[in-house]
Amino acid sequence: MAGDSHHPERAAVAALSDSFVAGLREWIKIPSIGVDPAHHADVRRSAEWLADQLRADGWPEIAIWDRGPALPAVYACWPAADPGAPTVLVYGHHDVQPVDPVERWHHPPFEPVTSGDELYGRGASDDKGQVAMHLLAVKAHLAATGQNAPSVTLKLFIEGEEESGSPHLRKLLQDHADDLVCDLVVFTDTALHERDAPTVNTGQRGVLGGEITFLGGTDDVHSGRAGGAIPNPATALAKLVAALHDEEGRIQLPGFYDDVREPSARERKDYAELPFDEQKWLAHNGGGAQALSGEPGYTTLERIWVRPTAEINGLSSGYTGPGLKTIIPASATAKISFRLVPDQLPEKVADQLKEFVAKHTPPGIRAEISFRGDGVPPYAISPDDPANATVKEAMELAFDQPVRFARAGGSGPAAVLQAWLGVPLVYLGATLPDDRVHAPNERVVVPLLLKGAEGAAHLWRMLPERLTR
Ligand SMILES: [Zn+2]
Repeated sequence: MAGDSHHPERAAVAALSDSFVAGLREWIKIPSIGVDPAHHADVRRSAEWLADQLRADGWPEIAIWDRGPALPAVYACWPAADPGAPTVLVYGHHDVQPVDPVERWHHPPFEPVTSGDELYGRGASDDKGQVAMHLLAVKAHLAATGQNAPSVTLKLFIEGEEESGSPHLRKLLQDHADDLVCDLVVFTDTALHERDAPTVNTGQRGVLGGEITFLGGTDDVHSGRAGGAIPNPATALAKLVAALHDEEGRIQLPGFYDDVREPSARERKDYAELPFDEQKWLAHNGGGAQALSGEPGYTTLERIWVRPTAEINGLSSGYTGPGLKTIIPASATAKISFRLVPDQLPEKVADQLKEFVAKHTPPGIRAEISFRGDGVPPYAISPDDPANATVKEAMELAFDQPVRFARAGGSGPAAVLQAWLGVPLVYLGATLPDDRVHAPNERVVVPLLLKGAEGAAHLWRMLPERLTR
């Protein structure tokens, strides 16, 4: 990593940093809360702000996609001078999370405040900061190379509904299939491991959630008149819940692990080398839990990143008010969710759950299972993928230190994008896990966004040689 080859990009980013922060502050002021219909006009204003910014930056092709049910998404394209250059699609989102509880914010969420090298405000990290980072990267790339068009054909697809679970993403991809043709997707909505331990993300878990209800009769029954003679749905459901994991924590759905891809030796080595203090992590992330637990043979990071889970999210049955009511409840319900890893498919796990529930439904009880949507498939890309290796190299140039591969335990639309567009998807993010995204006092560390922009600028310069169409 010696040499001065990265200095033009770094100098260009530095020269543009003040105007970058000023622009991001303006954008954060627009409360584009997508899940709240009262703010849908603001989501539109946010899309317009972005389109105006892209116009000012010189992007030749800009569109706001606002026909149909989806909240406005922004699309832009800047063709490379070389028609043979690869095309890269950058994905991000401009909608933000609600701000409740607003009284927990030290400053109003949509009045951005700078404190040291941090910028506070809703969306500063998730995801306006990182989308703005890409705008800066393109400007820095052009300034550093002296070109008037990027080295790769760049496309931006900035969604307005990510925080709502991207309900119309497939429709957008379908309606605009011609515009979105590309050779690579760069997904920008993930974080670095730590400030001093930069990482390139290589995957996200999927998710499937639903509800299991055990029904006995149509009404609660007097436990003295019928107790001992009819089955209790709460007891039956408790047995099912207890049978979900074995003594060691392995999930007991039939065939659940059949499609689970083990992380490579290289990935496990990278994870092991990341700075990670289990007790510190537990104190900050465990919600007050006093001990770690999980599947044997895997570290805490591996349990979160590369292993699937089954979690009971809620249990309800019978009488839970004050005092006692001597009944056999008519029904019992468990809310359940699974985090999935490659190559598990939500629809297959749904079938496995149905089979498991059927097996654990005693005579006299009727089971009902419902799922929340189709679930989100997991996604991971190999560290050895040429585009992924180039991202790592570009980030190492920007950060002046080794960059390791990591994954994210949460879920996002990466797998949908990858499957629909049929090209590799890589991650480029420069925020932090403790940016308090979705929570009060969201912030972003500005120097990290500048590093991320420099990394992206390197990437656009390097990719034509590494990526063949
Ligand atoms: Zn996000």
